[in-house]
Amino acid sequence: MRQKLIAGNWKMNGSLSANADLLSGVCAGLSQPHCEVAVCVPTPYLAQAQLALAESKLKLGAQDVSAHAAGAYTGEVSASMLLEFGVQYVIVGHSERRAYHSESDAVVAQKTLAALAAGLTPIVCVGETLEQREAGQTNDIVANQLNSVLAVISSDDVARIVVAYEPVWAIGTGKTATPSMAQEVHAFLRSQLAIKNAAAAQLVAILYGGSMKPDNAGELLGMADIDGGLIGGAALKAADFLAIIQAV
Ligand code: PEP
Repeated sequence: MRQKLIAGNWKMNGSLSANADLLSGVCAGLSQPHCEVAVCVPTPYLAQAQLALAESKLKLGAQDVSAHAAGAYTGEVSASMLLEFGVQYVIVGHSERRAYHSESDAVVAQKTLAALAAGLTPIVCVGETLEQREAGQTNDIVANQLNSVLAVISSDDVARIVVAYEPVWAIGTGKTATPSMAQEVHAFLRSQLAIKNAAAAQLVAILYGGSMKPDNAGELLGMADIDGGLIGGAALKAADFLAIIQAV
């Protein structure tokens, strides 16, 4: 049975006081979670979140990691640094980083390797733009993004990654892929994973991300190959985030 995972991506939102309220609200509603739950917080708040989550089942995640282990890389944060703050998950290749920081598939692959080498679980994001979907290129785009990662990791490590299918046109827009549209891409991604390691492909959690909210989560999460969600906006309100977790 695959592990279900709901991961919140706070993006560049928060403050010490807002985080304290949000984390305590989520923790209060999560005494016995029936699935894995994580929050990926901005780097400066990792220490705050580590402390706040010490007694909780909620796991800590980061939103990016350097491909490098250490050295002259101003502004970057290494996987071993994240590990020191109790981080277990790290998002790599989010479409906002690909678009605004020119992260290539090759860089995303190196970041995935760095995360795995440190013992972190990378959440590898893939997804097409609206233009690419309308041109019928969805499978090609997500296959290239995923296969760049699969090309550099060992077949044993396939089971150690999480994949997030996030259609770019659905992120923060209020537009959601229909459950059947998402399921089709998720099944395709699993078939790509299976080429590298058939047994591991059955174990990899493939999350859907893109305007997942309490009112659409149940239907999306009910699809056979949708194993959870990567949640942006709705992860910033404890009640909404908890309602999505409840929908698993
Ligand atoms: C995301 O940024 O990963 C995301 C899915 O955002 P939203 O839920 O706001 O669309």
